[in-house]
Amino acid sequence: MQHLTLKELQKKLRGGETTAVEAAQKVFTQIQKHEPVVKAYLQTFEKDALEQAQKADELLRSTNGAAADKQPLLGIPLAIKDNMNLLNTETTCASKILKGYISPYTATAVQKLQAAGAVIVGKTNLDEFAMGSSTENSAFQQTTNPWDRARVPGGSSGGAAAAVAADECFGCLGSDTGGSIRQPASFCGVVGLKPTYGLVSRYGLVAFASSLDQIGPLAKTVADAALILNVIAGYDEQDSTSVKQPVKDYTEFLDRDIKGQKIAVIKELLGDGIDDAVRQTIQTALDGLRKQGAIIEEIAMPSFKYALAAYYLVATSEASANLARFDGVRFGHRSKNARDMLELFKKSRAEGFGAEVKRRIMLGTYALSAGYYDAYYLKAQKVRTVIKQDYNKAFARYDAVLSPTSPSVAFKFGEKVNDPLSMYLSDIATIPVNLAGLPGISVPCGTAGDAVSGTVGDAVSGATGGLPVGLQLVAGEFAEQKLLQIAAAVERGSRFERIRL
Ligand code: GLN
Repeated sequence: MQHLTLKELQKKLRGGETTAVEAAQKVFTQIQKHEPVVKAYLQTFEKDALEQAQKADELLRSTNGAAADKQPLLGIPLAIKDNMNLLNTETTCASKILKGYISPYTATAVQKLQAAGAVIVGKTNLDEFAMGSSTENSAFQQTTNPWDRARVPGGSSGGAAAAVAADECFGCLGSDTGGSIRQPASFCGVVGLKPTYGLVSRYGLVAFASSLDQIGPLAKTVADAALILNVIAGYDEQDSTSVKQPVKDYTEFLDRDIKGQKIAVIKELLGDGIDDAVRQTIQTALDGLRKQGAIIEEIAMPSFKYALAAYYLVATSEASANLARFDGVRFGHRSKNARDMLELFKKSRAEGFGAEVKRRIMLGTYALSAGYYDAYYLKAQKVRTVIKQDYNKAFARYDAVLSPTSPSVAFKFGEKVNDPLSMYLSDIATIPVNLAGLPGISVPCGTAGDAVSGTVGDAVSGATGGLPVGLQLVAGEFAEQKLLQIAAAVERGSRFERIRL
């Protein structure tokens, strides 16, 4: 039962073949069994979840399943990343500075899940304030990749990806500023979708870099991601950057063939710096798309070589401003050793933030300071425009742009965490998408032959043939339907089996 996809569970609940209580119980059994090693969750809500599931069952029973027409996620156990507010629960962002902070309200995207009947089972681990690519920057615990206990789950939504991969929920909301949904999805062999900037409300998401942050689903399949997007998309007056767009049915095109669809492969992202095994897996997936009638051509994206530098100026600048609010006065940790106001600010921040967060605050403060603003921040914003222009040129001729999601499969613990630059470089394929505000998705397209040093549990299938490789597709603004259509074709055309713990 816990291995079902969201869509399969939805059908069984509607048809009365199973109950929401049973689904929730199975999820908590799975959590009990695997969390001692996986450590995907920072907190779980077993009692509340079972109560909600019971209510869902009553509704389903009394309406003969019809309640699910109005509430498409009725009785489905989902999780959220712990940088989203959920009323009366702790929201820590995996940071000591927010330890003990209780959400005074619920984020819009989470509230929409609840309104659709979803049962929230817990909040997942992340890199502190979503800064990182391995979840090793969490102040509280190290999440393990379910495919290989020696490896990271990716980040920053590593807890979300691991929870979905280990069937500890049927889907999870993550946030993506520079790849934080797509890269962990790639490392853990699940689907991760970053919607167009402005499609999903950011109200109640703790801000990292406001012009880049976007909430989206991590799910077992493309169809599951589309079902979650259907619920969370849409204008919200609480978020001034959310866009007034008619809400579409994102599942509508999933079964359509892709004959004649034009897909551009980014030359720079299949060359140097990309692991051979990843490249080969992507090439095989391309053959699968060609067989389904897609037209595939190579293009160059000359501006991408500046993307990383631009991102680490824009993201850190915005972070330095956003994180200024954590001063020991209003939220979370307050230093006990301060003699005056200034010391209170200094000590609370020094004690509360971890090394990576401090590094970014310093970088961002420097980039924004008088005399450097034009040289760094402004220049980075100009690079952003050029990257957007490059994409626009591509979308004038192609339906989607394709690359690996990450240059490598999941790496080992400790491999990059002490070398920030090499950690940053691993985001080369995902970052340009955020800078341009476009929708991007990572779909597992196969496994690459890296040796697996032992899965988390007793894997029934999947883990024997190496580690998952994610294929990234990017489409034009608000072209999520098309994006998901092609993603579904990648899924159909690939030889990939989810791990079953
Ligand atoms: N890994 C990137 C970073 O460290 C992206 C993080 C994210 O998307 N939140 O900034």
